[in-house]
Amino acid sequence: MADNDQFDLIVLGGGPGGYVAAIRAAQLGMKVVCVEKEDALGGTCLRVGCIPSKALLDSSELFDQIRHKAPDHGISVEGLSVDVGGMLKRKDEVVTSLTRGVAGLFKKNRIEWVRGFGRLAGPDTVAVESPEGRRTLKAPKILLATGSVPVELPFLKFDHERIIDSTGALSIPKVPEHLIVIGGGVIGLELGSVWLRLGARVTVLEAMPTILPGMDGEVVRQATRILGKQGFDLRTGTRVTGATRSGDKVTVTVEGGDPIEADYVLVAVGRRACTGGMGFEEAGIRLERGVIQVDGHYHTGVAGIYAIGDAIGGRMLAHKAEEEGVAAVEFMAGKHGHVNYDAVAGVVYTWPEIASVGKTEEELGQAGVAYRTGKFPWMANGRAKAMAEVDGFVKILADEKTDRILGVHIIGPRASDLIAEAAVAIEFEGSAEDLARSVHAHPTLPEAIKEAALAVDGRAIHF
Ligand code: FAD
Ligand code: NAD
Repeated sequence: MADNDQFDLIVLGGGPGGYVAAIRAAQLGMKVVCVEKEDALGGTCLRVGCIPSKALLDSSELFDQIRHKAPDHGISVEGLSVDVGGMLKRKDEVVTSLTRGVAGLFKKNRIEWVRGFGRLAGPDTVAVESPEGRRTLKAPKILLATGSVPVELPFLKFDHERIIDSTGALSIPKVPEHLIVIGGGVIGLELGSVWLRLGARVTVLEAMPTILPGMDGEVVRQATRILGKQGFDLRTGTRVTGATRSGDKVTVTVEGGDPIEADYVLVAVGRRACTGGMGFEEAGIRLERGVIQVDGHYHTGVAGIYAIGDAIGGRMLAHKAEEEGVAAVEFMAGKHGHVNYDAVAGVVYTWPEIASVGKTEEELGQAGVAYRTGKFPWMANGRAKAMAEVDGFVKILADEKTDRILGVHIIGPRASDLIAEAAVAIEFEGSAEDLARSVHAHPTLPEAIKEAALAVDGRAIHF
């Protein structure tokens, strides 16, 4: 074996979990190699997930603002049109610049990227196959960060032309007349928003009684109302039974209803851990329904092998994967990794955005926790008024006895940015009173968080 095939750590997968772990490990003095099969680093998130979807969300939101909101500001624009090709090109450029950025960070940190498909070939060995040939890498520590892939419905298989997954929905060459989205979760509503704003008719077929199941009920009700007003045809409690393709059209059949025809069907019913065909079970790693089982230190139970990110289940979020990656390599280095899952925020990048951290009212109710609620509507926030973005509210849930913040739920403008303050407050085990007594600049959106915190004690000033 060549010397250059012996490392301190092999990271399998170059997504946000894997690449961030590789950088942290290099900072801790390890000689690190990262195996990634795709032509670019960054994983689902950078290549076909968070980043391209947000690029299209921002472009389509700008179009929507000019079309529907500019007149409220006294601005009129004539001859407005969308160049889908130009929009997709910009999205691709954003992705390329960020994935190249990760390659640059690898160089800076002296991390080797081996391009190819990796398989566990022993407790300390990863065999990599690529068009350039086979390479056998060895290290006492291996981190599995192989991520996730879209779930395929057995009765409605992807043809990747008209029946597409999220990756396909990021590159539809022309605005569809009618897009059916199966699954009213995060991907369905985000990518549905992109094409709705650009002019498509969008029908969402959701099996559960509400969209965004599992999120705070009051927020979901508000989101349903606002998205409906925007033009989404939201059909909840709808069970899809199949689809047939005829030329450029797809007809979707649903239980107890008429068939629905569309030119594209986006299936967005969740993602599953990507853990098959890589020698994991043969190495003794325990999988449950395809999800790698780990202990509190992200160790798989097989000496030296750790796992993180979408592949270990839990919430499939890039920042969760990143934090787990950092914690895992810190544990490997004998340090104390730390991920506080109660402080992991989740965001749905519709407009208005929806963001939450901590417990929902439903979860607190089920756990029998007594809590107080403070709510503040955007209608009463000066900056939101100035922006003409007055839909939604901020809601803070605090422990009835200790006032400790248990959950924060926001539906409104830039909720994605606002939720960081709440996450920090929860991480510091802060109280509603702590937020209420913190000075917030005026006029800003975060003032609504302070007001909601004041409202926990019944003393909001502006509402
Ligand atoms: P991944 O990003 O999936 O990376 C795993 C990597 O491992 C991949 O690059 C894969 O090619 C590689 N790999 C797998 N097996 C092998 C092998 N055998 N050999 C070599 N390489 C291998 N999350 C958010 O937090 N915010 C968002 O806004 C957001 N938006 C999203 C939008 C969409 C459309 C999608 C699909 C997902 C989105 N997510 C978002 C989820 C986020 O992308 C994932 O949670 C995150 O990428 C998980 O990181 P990971 O490193 O665990 O796995
Ligand atoms: P999801 O779990 O968010 O939503 C899937 C939806 O499909 C659910 O509402 C579910 O009830 C519904 N569903 C399941 N089977 C169905 C069926 N047969 N017919 C109709 N509806 C059905 O999953 P997703 O939207 O595919 O996203 C996958 C994951 O990617 C998410 O869990 C999320 O963690 C991650 N993601 C995050 C972001 C973000 O953070 N902004 C964005 C996109 C994706």
